[in-house]
Amino acid sequence: MMSECLPDFSITRPKSVEQAISEAQNAPSGRFLAGGTDLIVNMRRGLVETGNLIDLTGIPELRKLKADQTGLTIGAGVTLSEISANESICRNYGAIAQASSLVAGPGHRVAATIGGNLCLDTRCLYYNQSHWWRQANDYCLKFKGDLCHVAPAGKRCRAAFSGDMAPALMVHDAKLEIAGPEGRRQIAVVDLYREDGADHLQLEPGEFIVAVEVPPADATTVTSAYAKVGVRNAIDFPLAGIAVAYRKAAPTVHSFAVAITGTNSAPVLLNGLEKLSEEDEPEAYFAELDKLVQKQVSPQRTSTTAAHYRRLSAASLARRLARELSAL
Ligand SMILES: Cc1cc2nc3c(=O)[nH]c(=O)nc-3n(C[C@H](O)[C@H](O)[C@H](O)COP(=O)(O)OP(=O)(O)OC[C@H]3O[C@@H](n4cnc5c(N)ncnc54)[C@H](O)[C@@H]3O)c2cc1C
Repeated sequence: MMSECLPDFSITRPKSVEQAISEAQNAPSGRFLAGGTDLIVNMRRGLVETGNLIDLTGIPELRKLKADQTGLTIGAGVTLSEISANESICRNYGAIAQASSLVAGPGHRVAATIGGNLCLDTRCLYYNQSHWWRQANDYCLKFKGDLCHVAPAGKRCRAAFSGDMAPALMVHDAKLEIAGPEGRRQIAVVDLYREDGADHLQLEPGEFIVAVEVPPADATTVTSAYAKVGVRNAIDFPLAGIAVAYRKAAPTVHSFAVAITGTNSAPVLLNGLEKLSEEDEPEAYFAELDKLVQKQVSPQRTSTTAAHYRRLSAASLARRLARELSAL
């Protein structure tokens, strides 16, 4: 039986983005390390096989946090407790502040970073288990096995993405600055992900997130909020987590953006949401929103909680937040 001990590894501490890129080229099977609150747990469980960690926490560029009239820049190494304590974020980016204050517990959030949260591994009842448990079940499609126990007839892993920050950033149209051997590029947060629990990040080998860029938001024209349901109310991953942004685009026309985590292998940015005009009946609009969420999320048996409960929870949280933000 394999014990749950941290395997041996070497660690390098680059001081710049360029050094981190070359460290990654020197150690192709190496893994980037930030706060370690996900990676180290998974290494102890034997879910990550690497002998090299590249610690990104000593790179000044990744520690930048700036909020002004040009928007918000959050370095990938900024911690979640720094984000939730930032006055400007709390005032103008409600969903981002709230999501960062709801991740894990206070002791995790002083170390956990926004970059690590966005690149969090996907989770599943058949994967986040001890080595002996997984071995006894012939492993699974995500790691060392041939079969997805959640959807045995399917060809892909259904593990769920459960990071709280991605939906909050998505409803604020955030972009990511990514660095790697081929240089730097910018992508929308939604484009970081793909619907495959065993390979959910669209990053090339050696690439990592440098910063998150969020367009300017002013609480008089955009308000946003984040809420989640979990098995417990504290220190728990979302079974469903919802971010909603409400924009007063014109005096009589309003729009909503809705994004969801915890239900799919990638966070979902809701499609097909019409604008709400003064002539519309708000309750009918919210009922439509509820239906859209139920249709576009696809929770599976990746947790002990019933998939249908998670679908209904996602929809009712979206409806509640939209109603509260627009105060209709
Ligand atoms: C008890 C417990 C409860 C938790 N509850 C929650 C929760 O409620 N919600 C939630 O979202 N998370 C939760 N987590 C998971 C974790 O604490 C957070 O997601 C945290 O934000 C991860 O950040 P980190 O800096 O510690 O990442 P790390 O563990 O250092 O890294 C996580 C992954 O991201 C990669 N990575 C790190 N930085 C970068 C970068 N800049 N670019 C590219 N890849 C990078 C690493 O290689 C690794 O694969 C919980 C963890 C525990 C142990």
